[in-house]
Amino acid sequence: MTEEAQVGVQNEIEIIGAEDQQYTVYDLHCHTLFSDGTLSPTDLVIRAKEKGVHYLALTDHDETSGLDEAQAKADEIKLNLIHGVEVSVSWDNNQTIHIVGLNIDKENEALQQGLAEIRQERVRRAKKIASKLEKAGIPNVWRDVVEQNGFEALTRTHFGRFLLEHNHVKDMKEAFKKWLGRKGRAHVTGHWVPMKDAVEWITQAGGQAVIAHPVRYGMTNRKLEKLVLDFKDAGGIGLEVIGNRYSSAERAAMASLARRFDLLASVGSDFHAPGNPYIELGRNLGLPEHVKPIWHDWHN
Ligand code: AMP
Ligand code: MN
Ligand code: MN
Ligand code: MN
Repeated sequence: MTEEAQVGVQNEIEIIGAEDQQYTVYDLHCHTLFSDGTLSPTDLVIRAKEKGVHYLALTDHDETSGLDEAQAKADEIKLNLIHGVEVSVSWDNNQTIHIVGLNIDKENEALQQGLAEIRQERVRRAKKIASKLEKAGIPNVWRDVVEQNGFEALTRTHFGRFLLEHNHVKDMKEAFKKWLGRKGRAHVTGHWVPMKDAVEWITQAGGQAVIAHPVRYGMTNRKLEKLVLDFKDAGGIGLEVIGNRYSSAERAAMASLARRFDLLASVGSDFHAPGNPYIELGRNLGLPEHVKPIWHDWHN
């Protein structure tokens, strides 16, 4: 299923509250308002603690500016914060793939230059999206979405929220289906950076590169295997095997993929905002036993 198609789908998996779990809870993928989340880094970290998370990675899209604030709060309330980022890359004829970097040195120059380059492309793409929406008769998109944001990590989520707030759509699902998603009227392909470059920047910054939400790209198994091989060639080492709403079948398939290709297993809610009980920090992120966790050597 595609990323667009997945949102809002409730599958059969049992939801286990992190607060009831006896073992260490990792959540290694989430967002703040430094990209397309709605919480400040402070509020995100507090919420993670409340939800029983022990290790939280903040992974904003192409942006690390939320990490200082998150770290300050994490120190205060004694939560282990992993410095992360979710990098937008283009792979195999401009297909967008997201690569999560964990334990990065956010001061690394090559990484920051790369992220700045991607954010410039975000601005270029945002202008095109705004113009398509305005041509379709929706007023003030540029003014309200782009100018008012005052920062560079402009995502399609920002446009989706604008469309919703101004009653052009009934929910975010419709915003993506009708306008912003792959088949939407205002869709613009992002020309991000090659996957190889992103993996190299993360690795040079001392980080671990992980393929984010592999079940959401709508790929055949064959294509997914090709992605994994290219990713490994580039130096990537991890696969997000578990997400909040993955079905049992998806969990098993991703665990098997990680095992077959000798990738370390990561887990993440991809939390953006409170309000959806199915997408929550630390929820339902237990790892199957037969995979090797990405954190296997974090505690040495
Ligand atoms: P971008 O990186 O700017 O292309 O935006 C992608 C982001 O849009 C993802 O990280 C999700 O947060 C969000 N997104 C994608 N599809 C949907 C959807 N169907 N409903 C709500 N949010 C979505
Ligand atoms: Mn997002
Ligand atoms: Mn993503
Ligand atoms: Mn994400």
